Amino acid sequence: MIYQTYTPRNYMQIAQLSKVSKEDLHNIDVVSRVLPFKTNNYVVSELIDWDNYQNDPMYILNFPQKGMLKPEHFTRIEKLILNEEDPSVIKSASEEIRKELNPHPAGQAHNIPVYMGEMMQGVQHKYNETLLFFPSQGQTCHAYCTFCFRWPQFVTTDSIKFAMKEIENIIGYIREHEEITDILITGGDPMVMKASVLDTYVSALLEADLPHLQNIRIGSKTLSFWPYRYLTDPDAEEILGVFRKITDAGKSLCFMAHFNHPRELETEAVIKAIKKIRETGAQIRTQSPLLKHINAKSGIWATMWKKQVQLGMIPYYMFIARDTGAQEYFGVSLDRAWDIFRRAYSSVSGVARTVRGPSMSSSPGKIRIAGVTDVNGEKVFVLEFIQGRNNDWVGRPFFARFNKNAYWLDDLEPAFGADSFFYEDELAELLLN
Ligand SMILES: *Cc1c(COP(=O)(O)O)cnc(C)c1O
Ligand code: SF4
Repeated sequence: MIYQTYTPRNYMQIAQLSKVSKEDLHNIDVVSRVLPFKTNNYVVSELIDWDNYQNDPMYILNFPQKGMLKPEHFTRIEKLILNEEDPSVIKSASEEIRKELNPHPAGQAHNIPVYMGEMMQGVQHKYNETLLFFPSQGQTCHAYCTFCFRWPQFVTTDSIKFAMKEIENIIGYIREHEEITDILITGGDPMVMKASVLDTYVSALLEADLPHLQNIRIGSKTLSFWPYRYLTDPDAEEILGVFRKITDAGKSLCFMAHFNHPRELETEAVIKAIKKIRETGAQIRTQSPLLKHINAKSGIWATMWKKQVQLGMIPYYMFIARDTGAQEYFGVSLDRAWDIFRRAYSSVSGVARTVRGPSMSSSPGKIRIAGVTDVNGEKVFVLEFIQGRNNDWVGRPFFARFNKNAYWLDDLEPAFGADSFFYEDELAELLLN
């Protein structure tokens, strides 16, 4: 299949939109002025059920919905469009709205490492073992998820893009930091890069002789959005060759695949692509956020994890939707998130219970809701760090007062009358540095 992309500029060419109501088409027009919108011919022709598009998880995953904007934001843009205002006027209104949507959650600006006296662009080092690398050529995707928190990378100017061309600096940094065992190449979607670009990065890392660097991870949504990347793209074989190079060098290649719904695991193309990737010796681990309107039912998760295991993949993370962008539309309360996780987790066999969650990627770390319980008559959330800015925080249970309406860490207060969570003083100190 030849990749055909649809953006706000040309999506009206999609033949299937004849099944979409006038009102929904208008909603796409309005919302896509503010939030990123991009889809492609695989998603349109193989994933979306157009006869039932209004409730279709794949449609909601890719096509802007009215509820993704606050009513006042929606009306503001709608009025400008109806008044036939100049595009530049609409654009500046959109930019103002975007700024209100918390484009940089979880204090990402604090994780930028320093090498040779300079801040490294395109790199984050938050957790001891793992360096995040955002190659500048991989900061877009084959289609955009409507819930995505990385949207500032797609819609704003270069200045806040995490872009990095110099792998040499990264290698130097990893050499100095023997605690780093993993590099996680991420985006956007690094698999939008040409094989030759990925090869440049990978070969440099392998040739650098870094014995402590054991795992090369690639975070990608290509298996759901464009499995033909590994089947029919002109450099499909070459990409698989780069993967093989990693495993042949004795490093482990962890392909961190992003799937949101079992539908994404059903096409012939995805099944073939998974097989091709596994044949290179790569391990595929899977992750997804929990999203209202898309996958907020335990049965969906249980089905998804079982299918993943059947296809040879390892369920890895369930995330809680972040406090950015269209969180109000997609957000699930912490209480419900835990309930959905527990029901799904307890209904699959041990081989699928490799999954961890539901987890919030917040400023102090990845915090899991381990449960809801009663301690001496006080109803509490039991929480636990899966990853922490300080490794010493990991695996210690702590408690927050139960709150039915909590959607994120910010909504929680310490239980048992405590003034603060155990990590807060140290966190404040770490963030000063
Ligand atoms: C999730 C994450 C990682 C990887 O964490 P693992 O639990 O090892 O998968 C690394 N860095 C950041 C900033 C992350 O958010
Ligand atoms: S594939 Fe990942 S980075 Fe790209 S839009 Fe979806 S969630 Fe965001």
